[in-house]
Amino acid sequence: MQIAVPRESAAGERRVAIVPEVVAQLTRAGHRVRVEKGAGIRAGFTDKAYEDAGCETSGAGADLYSGADMVLRVQRPDNGEVAKIGSGTVLVGLLQPGADVSLFARLAAQGVISCSMELVPRTTRAQMMDALSSQSTVAGYKAVLIAANALQKFFPMLMTAAGTVRPAKVLVIGAGVAGLQAIATARRIGAVVEAFDTRPVVKEQVKSLGATFVELDVVAEDAQDAGGYARELSEDHIRREKDLIHQRAIGADVIITTALVPGRRAPMLVSAETVKAMKPGSVIVDLAGEQGGNCELTKPGETVVHNDVTIIAPLHISSDLAFHASQMYAKNVAALVTLLAPKGSLELNFSDDIIAAVCVTANGEVRHAPTRERLASASPMAGLSR
Ligand code: NAD
Repeated sequence: MQIAVPRESAAGERRVAIVPEVVAQLTRAGHRVRVEKGAGIRAGFTDKAYEDAGCETSGAGADLYSGADMVLRVQRPDNGEVAKIGSGTVLVGLLQPGADVSLFARLAAQGVISCSMELVPRTTRAQMMDALSSQSTVAGYKAVLIAANALQKFFPMLMTAAGTVRPAKVLVIGAGVAGLQAIATARRIGAVVEAFDTRPVVKEQVKSLGATFVELDVVAEDAQDAGGYARELSEDHIRREKDLIHQRAIGADVIITTALVPGRRAPMLVSAETVKAMKPGSVIVDLAGEQGGNCELTKPGETVVHNDVTIIAPLHISSDLAFHASQMYAKNVAALVTLLAPKGSLELNFSDDIIAAVCVTANGEVRHAPTRERLASASPMAGLSR
């Protein structure tokens, strides 16, 4: 198959969908890869590196898309880019199935087979394709570095001739993929870490990373669904949780929040009152900003200072570590391409649970039920889902 890899057009996006390292895997399977000139440079991959790996490089527009059977991207295409994707072409990317649904109506009408990386099931077989996990790993790591940079204190304990420095105290709220990586990173640079999640099953993982698990008496079945994802908690649970977080926040130098519930606004867990009670100079990095934020004072994409507490809510944080974020994402995408076209040509086998789950549009139809329902109701929020 002819594969096209465009330069990402979204503001601030530095990642690229395919890196030179994975090209051999694709060409071995009989694919030809054409990369738009400059597509990888913001992530540290030169045109020459792609050419050396066996890719063709081309200009944007018709040159890139002509004869393309597959278009591999990081972010959603804009309207101009959608117009260039031909009928029967496979489009793979982080297409944000919960965002503006009109994209999928257009893709279906154009006959594009669109596959959204967010919809890869969280199963063992699909692990190689799990871009949510790979990008969350990047985000959790980077959040700690952002916090350490903003904090006017050391993270590690130091014993120097000028006295002993006590280690920073970090509270991580939400111990999913991003939270666990944040715990590991904060521990690696010497902080004392406490972590909290409503799913009691993560307690052992938190402890194995050398952090203390802060417990709230939540029944496991109330906290997570059959797929292992967090459920939205009752108002009473959230109130008790906020009280608990308030108590732990008072002693923290840094709070990293990562709490998400699929298809819902992020739970609001750190109140303005809690921020007011924190030590001056403390730092909150809110990774849930794209879903509304876990802190009441979060402004997504901005840094605000309230009562001498700095609240940072970076958006598209994985793009800040573009080299490795691209490398990991490219491996996820190449694994999906291999599944979709194992012998060089497309085998759209909907009895495969991964293909059935990721495919949003095919054969002129919207296959993904929540997207179909949202289009039918024409309500941008109805049936919001991963
Ligand atoms: P996520 O990004 O959806 O959510 C982040 C974390 O926030 C979760 O751990 C969740 O429990 C927590 N959370 C939600 N509400 C909260 C609240 N009110 N207070 C505190 N914490 C709260 O999570 P994720 O990282 O995508 O992981 C979700 C699930 O998927 C987990 O069970 C994880 O083990 C599983 N998973 C499985 C695989 C696999 O099998 N291949 C891969 C990755 C993740």
